[in-house]
Amino acid sequence: QLRLSPGEEQDGRETRLRVVLRVRPLTCTETRRGDRHVVRSLGNGTVHVSAARHDATFTFSAVFDAGASQEAVFEGSGMRQLVELAVEGFSCTVFAYGQTGSGKTYTLMGPLGQSDAPGLLGLMQRSFSFLLEQSRGTGLALSASYLEIYNEQVRDLLSAGPPRALPLRWSKTRGFYVENQLSVDFESLEAVVELLLQGSQRRRTSAHALNGHSSRSHAILTIRIHSRAPGISKQGSLCFVDLAGSERVKDTGSSGELSMEANNINRSLLALGHCISLLAKPRGKRTHIPYRDSKLTRLLARSLGGSGVTLMVACVSPSSHCLSETLSTLHYASRAR
Ligand code: ADP
Ligand code: MG
Repeated sequence: QLRLSPGEEQDGRETRLRVVLRVRPLTCTETRRGDRHVVRSLGNGTVHVSAARHDATFTFSAVFDAGASQEAVFEGSGMRQLVELAVEGFSCTVFAYGQTGSGKTYTLMGPLGQSDAPGLLGLMQRSFSFLLEQSRGTGLALSASYLEIYNEQVRDLLSAGPPRALPLRWSKTRGFYVENQLSVDFESLEAVVELLLQGSQRRRTSAHALNGHSSRSHAILTIRIHSRAPGISKQGSLCFVDLAGSERVKDTGSSGELSMEANNINRSLLALGHCISLLAKPRGKRTHIPYRDSKLTRLLARSLGGSGVTLMVACVSPSSHCLSETLSTLHYASRAR
């Protein structure tokens, strides 16, 4: 049984960060093209990558292969425990990391809006249900906010009207926060799923306006869990982060805008990897954590540091065509371990 427990030390290492790997099935296009499977799960959290000149083995807390259901990922990743910890007052974060098309959004949300099949619901909907179950009759109040970071600009995905950038500020009492960010109270699964749908729809609308926008933005949905009882200040949170595609964005050289965008993504993912690998070190060996290096890490500073508990789901394609991006994701994710 895998455990995720804040503050608990194991071999001098705190177990408040867990990294799991999900390998999606080959898509129809990949199968038709005759792509080979180059990623194989060997059991016990070990995965093997084999190709002409690359032969490597990586180990994670768990590996989910093409046959793993959405339910198996929810149960086997420690997600249920993460929800329990958030109810107890901890700041919990789940990241989906990987190249565009590797299954990040599918893992978090399932095929949103395309199918109502309960079996396909993602980590988010499953966590919402469990959270509502846990909070029933306990006097806990729940609220949600949903933001997007695109090109180092923060945008509210829940507020109607034309998109506009919100300032990211810092104060002694609140730490980093987004000014004028909308936060919506909810009491039912339908209500929070509706917020997820609406926000994701806004993200997708910009994808049409700006070619490929959604694969180049980070989306962050945060649930705050606060006690209604007077005098009790414990406040937990559950944060779901659908990261921008980790592939090296090709710089055409013709447009300064694209290269700035590529730089911003690379910089924020590097900053995140850096913060996470420092946080994974035993406390005594930690140096200063450079949250200020990107908007993404600033926004997540509170969830990652302090009493934070983090789950990273690294997503890869099994296809031979994706080999170099897959290796890059596996290296990134094992550095975070
Ligand atoms: P990303 O968000 O990383 O860009 P998506 O989640 O959109 O990738 O997945 C790309 C495609 O692969 C989608 O059509 C999605 O439905 C499909 N897909 C991803 N993961 C799985 C899976 N585990 N099982 C079945 N289909 C999947
Ligand atoms: Mg996606």
